[in-house]
Amino acid sequence: MLQPLGAQALKLKEEKQMKIGFIGLGNMGAPMAANLASAGFEVAGFDPAGTSAPGIGVASTAAQAASDADVVITMLPNGAILRSVADELVPAMKSGAVLLDCSTVDVDSARTVAKQAQDAGLMAVDAPVSGGIGGASGGTLTFMAGGTEAGFLKVTPLFDIMGQKAVHCGEAGAGQAAKICNNMILGATMIATCEAFALADKLGLERQKMFDVVSTSSGYSWSMNAYCPAPGVGPQSPSDNGYTPGFAAELMLKDLGLSQQAAEAADADTPMGALALALYKRFVEEEDGMGRDFSAMLPRFEGRGRD
Ligand code: NAD
Repeated sequence: MLQPLGAQALKLKEEKQMKIGFIGLGNMGAPMAANLASAGFEVAGFDPAGTSAPGIGVASTAAQAASDADVVITMLPNGAILRSVADELVPAMKSGAVLLDCSTVDVDSARTVAKQAQDAGLMAVDAPVSGGIGGASGGTLTFMAGGTEAGFLKVTPLFDIMGQKAVHCGEAGAGQAAKICNNMILGATMIATCEAFALADKLGLERQKMFDVVSTSSGYSWSMNAYCPAPGVGPQSPSDNGYTPGFAAELMLKDLGLSQQAAEAADADTPMGALALALYKRFVEEEDGMGRDFSAMLPRFEGRGRD
């Protein structure tokens, strides 16, 4: 039987009336803003590079995009830029609005900006994403959020459009903390998987057999099972496409740098994370890793001996 939508319809109408400011219309921000616009939200965007996105209005400054908004989303390269953009946004935003930062930045910048927003009578949510450019265009990102319950609830309808999952991880900075801890595990396991494949090659073990055993044994991981770095083995992954990203090695390097920065600040002992950072740093800055998928560590190890 059909039921009247009632309160649900009212809530939907109210949500659709939320005005959005969107600052940073790059590879990730532009498709995220476009998805919000195509779902019916009024979006005012700004990017100093002059980029835009289908369906959105373009403002001439970040403050202008933010002044009338109920939620201002930022999708920026790093914490220093976030801090300087927040200095401009916070005084321009209307009381009670939410500053929703979806960039990947250091935990300290996330907490500082959240405090600055709260002191000015705003709500703040840090919600870095995983899912990459494909997830941003397809509206299938995962959001890891930090901030108050009220802030999280207010932006949940936006998460529903831009993504498929949002986890409220805790107070301000908890989203960034979850993201960098996850990616520290990912960087280290990808390296371990690649060096094990290179060793298996030298021991004369076929890669398919290596996959068959490890993917169903205690060495299994997302890197092996879902994103296998060996071409032609396991499910489709960037290795089957000449290691075109995917998730670029330089983005992994950025996240590993953030996790070491956080580990130093929190006095946490993270030797595997530190080594993963050193290896990706060398791969990106001195070898041929720049612009390649982070799983291209396998051809790197393949070509090397013990020195
Ligand atoms: P990008 O470089 O394509 O976009 C960043 C945008 O910010 C650019 O368009 C730039 O012009 C704009 N910008 C720079 N300074 C600005 C300022 N002062 N005011 C307003 N805009 C400014 O980067 P991206 O790939 O879209 O990534 C954005 C964030 O998302 C990063 O923090 C990144 O680590 C994170 N992220 C990216 C991916 C990915 O696969 N690309 C995946 C997960 C998370």
